[in-house]
Amino acid sequence: MIYLKNCTYIDYKTLKFKNTDILVECGIKGKIHFYKEKPKNIQISENIDCKGQFVTHSFANGHHHVYSALARGMGAPRKSPENFYEVLQYIWWTLDKCLDKDMIKASALATAIACAKSGVCFVIDHHASPNSIKNSLQTIADAFEEVGISHLLCYEITDRDGIALAEKGLNETESYLRTHQGLVGLHASFTVGNDTLKTAVDLAKKYNSGIHIHVAEDDYDQKHCRETYNKSVAERLDEYGVFQFDKTILGHCLYLHENEKKIIAESKSWVVQNMESNLNNRVGYFNGSGLGKRIMLGTDGMHSDMLQSSKAVFFSGMGHEYNSPAATYERFRNVHNYISKNNFNGDEANNLVILNYDSPTEITEDNFLGHFVYGINSTHVQHVISNGHLIVKNKVLTTVNEEEILNFTRKEGKKLWEKMKNS
Ligand SMILES: [Zn+2]
Repeated sequence: MIYLKNCTYIDYKTLKFKNTDILVECGIKGKIHFYKEKPKNIQISENIDCKGQFVTHSFANGHHHVYSALARGMGAPRKSPENFYEVLQYIWWTLDKCLDKDMIKASALATAIACAKSGVCFVIDHHASPNSIKNSLQTIADAFEEVGISHLLCYEITDRDGIALAEKGLNETESYLRTHQGLVGLHASFTVGNDTLKTAVDLAKKYNSGIHIHVAEDDYDQKHCRETYNKSVAERLDEYGVFQFDKTILGHCLYLHENEKKIIAESKSWVVQNMESNLNNRVGYFNGSGLGKRIMLGTDGMHSDMLQSSKAVFFSGMGHEYNSPAATYERFRNVHNYISKNNFNGDEANNLVILNYDSPTEITEDNFLGHFVYGINSTHVQHVISNGHLIVKNKVLTTVNEEEILNFTRKEGKKLWEKMKNS
């Protein structure tokens, strides 16, 4: 058990402040207990003095892509993409086809370390590696657990590389869901034919899971759906039962007509906003009006820093949809409702982040949201506790040797870039 002394604890739901000591239980269902003074006869493995620091629930990412972790700094693609489809074709689909088992492991370790250091203890990931599908989810799960990050994974099933690889994706999903919490991943409507879509929904039903899919990230998805199926994306997905699950996650949702927004808002599914990725791909701006309250935030593989992501939502959204600091914070924290309502493991009260936030002005219950938007960032993350284990102490990983891992990820990154040049 860990004992945190002299904390200012911020309840992430009520934003109430409490001056207290905290006893943190270990384990997947571990709790926290508030004390005025250290109790006797309790075995403590770690004592931390949090004087002047803020303790609150750690963060979570609603839509991530481990597979893009080694892309940072890579050379330009062989053709400069002129539209969204070409971004996929010349960048991401070229990259993911080159991934082998070691590169996936490196990508997952790099992601997990970045998450831990920015206070993110739970990641919902959407993975693709078409030439290394088998056991790819287990490889990611192992890497995340080595660092101490909880996860909800899926494999991005698609027909874009032929039916044989779609089947491999379905098989990988089923074998993973037999023994793990997870989702059934689909790339997007425009790369998933009717047979694969139906099989995926059946699989989600069989394992009491849900679908995790990109929806209308670009208008291309809608055009393709109209031309191929004579209906809109949301109508098509609804017809196949994608929205029937409480666990379903819809990434992006930029190009939706009002009737589609209504279908989604009235369904059980959750929407993930990925502001920086949308800016990077020049696909447009998310507007949550009409989509209901089940909107959470993700990074879409751009990085692992959810505080940065929420700032992007607040500032870049200006002029497109105004999100007050309170509304931004609500979306930032909504992922915890998704996780707890669906009884997923790994996001209990004993996931904590300790912020060494040296504000030049007073911080109180009444002005916390101003500090959230304009002040607090991941450089303030001092310690991180995941499932009751101290995984980051004084900004350093305790679970793995970061230097060794970064040497490994840099080596795998170079291998990947070389391979991409020749593909
Ligand atoms: Zn995505």
